Amino acid sequence: MNLVLLGAPGSGKGTQGEVLSQHYNLKKIALGDILREERSEGTSLGNKVKKYMEEGVLVPDDIIKEVMGNKIQDNGFLIDGFPRNINQAKMLEDILAEKKLELNAVIYLDVSEDTIVRRLTGRRICSKCGALYHVVNMPSKEEGKCDKCGAELIMRKDDKEDTVRKRWEVFMGNTHALIDYYSKKNLLMKADGNLDKDRVFNIIRENLSR
Ligand code: AMP
Repeated sequence: MNLVLLGAPGSGKGTQGEVLSQHYNLKKIALGDILREERSEGTSLGNKVKKYMEEGVLVPDDIIKEVMGNKIQDNGFLIDGFPRNINQAKMLEDILAEKKLELNAVIYLDVSEDTIVRRLTGRRICSKCGALYHVVNMPSKEEGKCDKCGAELIMRKDDKEDTVRKRWEVFMGNTHALIDYYSKKNLLMKADGNLDKDRVFNIIRENLSR
């Protein structure tokens, strides 16, 4: 099965991506995570994307195409964070056609702006292993420390309120058009991303089994 997860920043793509990829044994391709890793390793790609990411705007499509072309290789993947505009959706089609692969569903996590501001400004991420926490909904056992590896929990720079609102605008301006696009292709599956994570997961699982 090959899936795409679509939704505004903070809609729960990271969380659902994790559980879905484990449940269905899919390779998770999370573009934002890949780019953050490149940045922390100081690669030339990482340096190229830094300024866009800090501003909360999209990295240019030509840079993204090369990254995704390398990551998508075989059946059994779940993509989080790509495509984010119609041009990228067409890029994805080209990549899949070239590799003789097909997309089975695009899962859209529908959330309100208020929900994402609340979620993202409270989100904390492990500086070492990337595990996710939330100061209210999912706190770590010891404040500021990762339960899994003990490293320091940090706030992503782009999770500050101003940048979150900017990222929401970017989503509404670019990514929202994909909902229509995939709906016309009969690939869209919508789930209410304002619900708690277990309920969202169950809705997606039920829909995928139909
Ligand atoms: P995310 O963790 O998915 O919210 O992504 C963080 C940042 O990475 C975004 O604000 C963009 O700057 C960049 N990014 C991630 N995915 C894409 C994409 N498909 N196209 C362009 N930029 C992206």
